[in-house]
Amino acid sequence: MTLEQQAGPLIRTDNFIDGRWVPAQRNRQFAVTNPATGERIALVADSSAADARAATDAAARALPHWRARLPAERAAVLRRWHALILANQDALGALISLEQGKPLAEGRGEVAYGASYVAWFADEATRIYGDLIPAQQRGKKMSAVKEPVGVVAAITPWNFPLAMIARKIAPALAAGCTVVGKPAEDTPLTALALVQLAHEAGVPPGVLNLITSSREMAVETVADWLADSRVRKITFTGSTPVGKYLARESAGTLKKLSLELGGNAPFIVFDDADLDAAVEGLLAAKFRNGGQTCVCPNRVYVQAGVYERFAALLSTRVAALRVGPASDDASQIGPMINLRAVDKIARHVDDALQHGATVLTGGSRLSALGAHYYAPTVLGDANATMALCAEETFGPVVPLFRFDSEQQAVEAANDTPFGLAAYFYSQDLRRIERVSRALEAGIVGINEGGLSSEAAPFGGVKESGYGREGSKYGLDDYLSIKYLCQGGLE
Ligand code: NAP
Repeated sequence: MTLEQQAGPLIRTDNFIDGRWVPAQRNRQFAVTNPATGERIALVADSSAADARAATDAAARALPHWRARLPAERAAVLRRWHALILANQDALGALISLEQGKPLAEGRGEVAYGASYVAWFADEATRIYGDLIPAQQRGKKMSAVKEPVGVVAAITPWNFPLAMIARKIAPALAAGCTVVGKPAEDTPLTALALVQLAHEAGVPPGVLNLITSSREMAVETVADWLADSRVRKITFTGSTPVGKYLARESAGTLKKLSLELGGNAPFIVFDDADLDAAVEGLLAAKFRNGGQTCVCPNRVYVQAGVYERFAALLSTRVAALRVGPASDDASQIGPMINLRAVDKIARHVDDALQHGATVLTGGSRLSALGAHYYAPTVLGDANATMALCAEETFGPVVPLFRFDSEQQAVEAANDTPFGLAAYFYSQDLRRIERVSRALEAGIVGINEGGLSSEAAPFGGVKESGYGREGSKYGLDDYLSIKYLCQGGLE
């Protein structure tokens, strides 16, 4: 069966507002294309401010009813949604691969990963505790209770079309909030399919609303939510400049914000590391989704004593990676999401070569496969003057930087405005303790390349944003604390 045939039954193209599929009010559409071939998959609603307003109206109307549901009732709806997502794993995985380009095994893996947040927050819904506070005066009772923040606007990127939106909707619904959402222009179909399954799972009309828009209309559409005081929270995953823009523009109505933004992850290999494990960890962390992940290592620092050996081991493995479309089961690296992405990768590699880097493997577009393909690449002799040291490359390129001392490595790793993920490999317990503390990042992988888990707090520091997704902390972003003070009890 082709990807199109597998995904077909789940394809929806209208907005989902107040429990119904409706076209954009001005009746416009935009095309969603397969990045592997450039072929059109579907035409979907190109929304404007009027659609955003209709979604907020529905979410605001539904809020009192949804927040009044018992936590166990909200949990039951989330569990049914989780079961439906897993029952449709193959079709959803195919849809992700079709519109986003990642290999099919990764597409299916993303479905399981995204679903795990729904199961997690179904359980957490029933554990929203408050506190009884020891009173400071006689005759008083003081307590703190947690309440849903209200209507939440969720705005998501294209690199994980299912997981990024699932891990926002699930805690929001668990907390008793209602949601208006907008997925990325490149990958709206998976989010629309997810909403259809939520509807089938019994999410009541108005509780979850999703509108789609072209990149051209994104500003106008989202601006309506930023200005609307009924929207009490923005949860955003995407680039740092857009995160800053949303923080600025929503200041007028002082919303609660969760910002999961860009990274520039360092990956440090010390002389005392298990080099085979470090190569495996780097391959897993770097090449998932073709290097298009916010936590993927962007700068790899290797201590001088093991530099040559590590570079040789890594280059051999990277040269063997299979590049191709998701429709080919053997593909390990798919196409990049769009031409802008490939152009940025090529610009970074060209700039690195001009500043003294050497190509150890790869280093060019794979135009014979299509316009969106770039070869998995390892560059030697990278240095801090290169653009790829300062910016996320967001592609399958590993630059190797040589260092001498631990202090040098930590200083270089922290020399960035970003602070999402960081990784290091060492077998020295004292060094592990020192470096874990010294790295300025929200997430640190120690002798480990795979970090993501619904049970763990995911999020950054510095200009990688604030707020945490997943874990026991993840619900707090969707709750506000109300202090109750009762007097006259004695
Ligand atoms: P992006 O350009 O910031 O877009 C993210 C979302 O915001 C999309 O839905 C986009 O719509 C929308 N958007 C863009 N400009 C907007 C504006 N002015 N007003 C309102 N909405 C706007 O990011 P991206 O290129 O899709 O994603 C890649 C970035 O996300 C990378 O920097 C990556 O590191 C980051 N990321 C972070 C995490 C994390 O957890 N920290 C996870 C994944 C990705 P359009 O698609 O229509 O432009």
